[in-house]
Amino acid sequence: MVMGRCHAAHGASAGLGLTNLAGACGAHVDLAVALVIGGLGAGAAIAPDLDHEGATASRSLGPITAGASLGIRKLSAFTYRHTQTKADRSNKSGHRGITHTGPGAVAIGAFFGGTIAIAGAFSHAAGTWAAVAVIWLFFTWALRALPPNHSHKRDYITATVLTFAGWWILRTHYAGIIPVLLGSVIAIGCYVHAIGDGLTDYGSPLIWPFTWKGQRWYPCGMPRFLRFKAGKKVENRLVYPLSLVLAVVLAAWFIPGVGLLVERAIDRMAGH
Ligand SMILES: [Zn+2]
Repeated sequence: MVMGRCHAAHGASAGLGLTNLAGACGAHVDLAVALVIGGLGAGAAIAPDLDHEGATASRSLGPITAGASLGIRKLSAFTYRHTQTKADRSNKSGHRGITHTGPGAVAIGAFFGGTIAIAGAFSHAAGTWAAVAVIWLFFTWALRALPPNHSHKRDYITATVLTFAGWWILRTHYAGIIPVLLGSVIAIGCYVHAIGDGLTDYGSPLIWPFTWKGQRWYPCGMPRFLRFKAGKKVENRLVYPLSLVLAVVLAAWFIPGVGLLVERAIDRMAGH
């Protein structure tokens, strides 16, 4: 299994990259917004491994996430069994099943976004608390996955502080679209996880429910010679550090003046 920290770094990069893109398209974004979206992306990118009992996401909140993991494993194995073709290999555990597909990622995003929207339809306060709970969960996942490694308690406290800051930032800029915004970031983070698993020797069912070579759960990924073993040298020494650098660069882009500095450096190198 690819380590949570590697997935979280990919998710953070995806969140920060999307914020950059939104900024380029004229949306209001700044460093604070980018960090909140990056943090949510990092948490979302470890959620699909809830289908494995030993994953960071499954072990993060004691019996709550352990119970969720059990339910998701059963659902995943059930979906696999009932949609597999004769050419598909067997998958009794449910790992790298439905949560690692496009429709699965959309369903996870819709579940959390929908929960906030439905709570908000009952009362404004219920909507607020639902959004705060979702942000807290994903920030907790991000903190549990990314270094430095702290105790559960310390991560819960840090997540609580960051959640209230994050909520305030999102509410200030995107009050009317929070369920859609959070749901979309979560769905994208989940699919980024599936793509990340596709880099490894096992592959990921990225095109489900469509079939390829007769397999509905065809493990998509890089050409075989480029795939690396999950949790080993290439991941720890190359993929993970590069993913972290990418996230930092994408975040640094929001610091006022950095864009101008880079432009000047390029101009100088070009001899102007
Ligand atoms: Zn996975």
